[in-house]
Amino acid sequence: MEENGPGMASNTYRCWVEVSTGQIVENCAAIRDLVGPGVGVMPVVKADAYHHGAVAVSRALEAAGAGWLAVSNVEEGVSLRSAGVGCSILVMGGFFSCEREALAGQRLTPLVHSMAQLRDYDRFSGARGEALPVHLDVDSGMGRLGTNESVEDVVEGVRGLRHARLEGLTTHLASAGDYTSPQTDEQVARFGVVRQALRAAGVEPRWVHLSSSVPVTHARREAWGNLVRPGLAVYGYPGICKGDSPACAVAVKTALSWKARILEVKDLPAGQSVGYNALFRTARPTRMAVIAAGYADGLPHALSNRGRVIAGGEWAPVIGAVSMDLAAIDVTGCPPLAPGDAVTVLGTEGALRQDAEDLARAAGSIAYTILCGIGQRVKHVYL
Ligand SMILES: *Cc1c(COP(=O)(O)O)cnc(C)c1O
Repeated sequence: MEENGPGMASNTYRCWVEVSTGQIVENCAAIRDLVGPGVGVMPVVKADAYHHGAVAVSRALEAAGAGWLAVSNVEEGVSLRSAGVGCSILVMGGFFSCEREALAGQRLTPLVHSMAQLRDYDRFSGARGEALPVHLDVDSGMGRLGTNESVEDVVEGVRGLRHARLEGLTTHLASAGDYTSPQTDEQVARFGVVRQALRAAGVEPRWVHLSSSVPVTHARREAWGNLVRPGLAVYGYPGICKGDSPACAVAVKTALSWKARILEVKDLPAGQSVGYNALFRTARPTRMAVIAAGYADGLPHALSNRGRVIAGGEWAPVIGAVSMDLAAIDVTGCPPLAPGDAVTVLGTEGALRQDAEDLARAAGSIAYTILCGIGQRVKHVYL
């Protein structure tokens, strides 16, 4: 990953993303305003901050006052510490016992996903002579990570802690965007039972958190606890809902544009096939441009003959198969274009705009996979 100063718009990259950390900070501030002073905001910066660049994004968020960041794994947390990020960091996606030293040594807070893991971390904490903080993940219905042991076992396990400190209690919602499903209400209720039982036993964790983006942006307040974990919304996507959902309660804007340069412009006669397996054949004389973005850069292969990019301020359909390093687009209806000109895969150009939700719809996918799928070799330019 490259980091660049401002004013690098005239770069020489083949394919790059332009990221506004300022917009990400603004989105986070809008979420903070929505949830109010009683609820903390823990932006999720896993998966290289959904390809926005975890270090740059985390530094900007911390400078703007973030007290918490969330990552998926220990390695992601360690790399933020190496970059000088000092705020609390939650490691959500599980860890192995061989990673406990790194967690403690780097002041990373783990989510523990079973009572056995909690006991083990307690012993580890004792051996280090430290009251290490942990958050306990309760499986309230997600059926993935998180303890699904009985409420009694959870209470007994937590009361049995001798060294580690239960700083947080959490769960993850499986169907937060699906307002046709009762699952979220059921999960909130089941989580509430565990929380109540702990409270009755005199245990009151400092942080209680359940919500990723959608329950935040769509103001499902009963699922906020006192800390929320928005990922996608921080990057400008409020999330998509199914059924009779309330309106989105917060204005967030996308912070990433994705560009690729034209390598070649060619006039093809009618009847010419384009690309692997001749998936496309020109019906008329066609001006075609080859762009420096393929599926190795994260342009989904599913966009073959389906997707479109913005070229010279006009839509340019993808023609033929998206290949590993290249894709062909039809620029017949576009203003004159030349090798070296940039096209917009994601972002705004002239009056047109395409975001990751749009591209995902065309690819039969979801915005998350579009953003996380942007390839390693695609350079970052920070605005
Ligand atoms: C990824 C993740 C989030 C953030 O999800 P978004 O839908 O991107 O807001 C929150 N919590 C957990 C446990 C996650 O894994």
